Amino acid sequence: MEESILVVNCGSSSLKLALFDQKNRKIASALAEKLNNSDAFARISGDDNPVELPAGASHEQALQALVNEFRNRQLLTGTPKAIGHRVVHGGETFREAVLVDDATEQAIEACAELAPLHNPVNLAGIRAMRALFPDRPHAAVFDTAYHHTLPERAYRYALPEHCYTQWGIRRYGFHGTSHYFMAREAARLLGKTPATTSIISAHLGNGCSITAIRDGLSVDTSMGLTPLEGLVMGTRSGDVDPGLFDYLATRGVSATEAHRMLNNDSGLLGLSGQTNDMRSLCELADHGHEPSQLAIDVFCFRLARYVGAMTASLAQLDALVFTGGIGENSPRIRQETVKHLGLLGIELDTGLNRDHGRMSDGFVSSPDSRFPVLVIPTNEELVIAQEAERLASA
Ligand code: ADP
Repeated sequence: MEESILVVNCGSSSLKLALFDQKNRKIASALAEKLNNSDAFARISGDDNPVELPAGASHEQALQALVNEFRNRQLLTGTPKAIGHRVVHGGETFREAVLVDDATEQAIEACAELAPLHNPVNLAGIRAMRALFPDRPHAAVFDTAYHHTLPERAYRYALPEHCYTQWGIRRYGFHGTSHYFMAREAARLLGKTPATTSIISAHLGNGCSITAIRDGLSVDTSMGLTPLEGLVMGTRSGDVDPGLFDYLATRGVSATEAHRMLNNDSGLLGLSGQTNDMRSLCELADHGHEPSQLAIDVFCFRLARYVGAMTASLAQLDALVFTGGIGENSPRIRQETVKHLGLLGIELDTGLNRDHGRMSDGFVSSPDSRFPVLVIPTNEELVIAQEAERLASA
């Protein structure tokens, strides 16, 4: 099928591959996990049988095996029209999605300094797929790109100027593809155009970020130089006092250890001492586990504070939007967050809030709420497929 689009999303030890048809319908998806490990495995969604992988398979080997499997099952016939790749950090170089050539690869490599855990593996995926489909267009779609419209007052840290000019230290923002999708879908649900729609978009998954979108453009966001800043996340701390690093050093904790602690051992996991999984935390809290309830409280309070902060960038608010695994699926987290927002006049409708979840979008606010509240399932893969198709057709 010449018109199909493949979408590749490589994480540090996992990858997702999706196949879209010419009508932007997802016709297949696959997942590989524990890559570069002896127990690496892969499977096609909806099928419990594993796809055979070489022992300790790399990202390249897993992609090759999954593309072959799509072919064997006649899901992919011929070559795809284009391949879209998720790339985490585009730095200041990439303000929008681009077609990949050798120079693009080098520029993505240069941005790897800013995202050492993500960009190299994103690039490995691009190189593997370019080797498999050398004469097809490949598009790189950046998590940071949608935030290129942040005004300088929002992206600059109050640091000496050379930190920015020489080292590129500024706020970049992430989850841009998801926030962009929220801007577009919220406008549709509100019966408006994106260019006249202003929302606050809360993406709450394992990583969490919130963005102020003014007339369709990102104007403030909670993640910064790296995806560690801002909200409480699954294992990431979000905001802490920058003085913490020096204080930890006096306790014998090195910068590397502190980095690992803030990224891997903090957030919901750190507070609860049990899990980074919000669903499990809610169950634990229901059984009287106080640290889990505290983790939920801190998560929701920080989020509500950030909703307030985001209003500083907006002249109007058409909707507060929840998305991501937690935002889409947890009426409780939405309720516990909104309960801090009484002064803004935001209220949920108990029934609507309870009934909306993954696969269903819609309003969850009460008729008395001063601002509408929406739940919208995110679809970053669709945006990447559409960007790849647009660039390939241009
Ligand atoms: P990722 O950022 O890795 O894509 P997701 O967007 O899938 O992650 O979000 C994962 C989070 O969503 C987990 O914390 C999970 O517990 C949470 N989640 C999923 N379903 C529910 C639910 N019904 N109630 C509460 N949390 C949920």
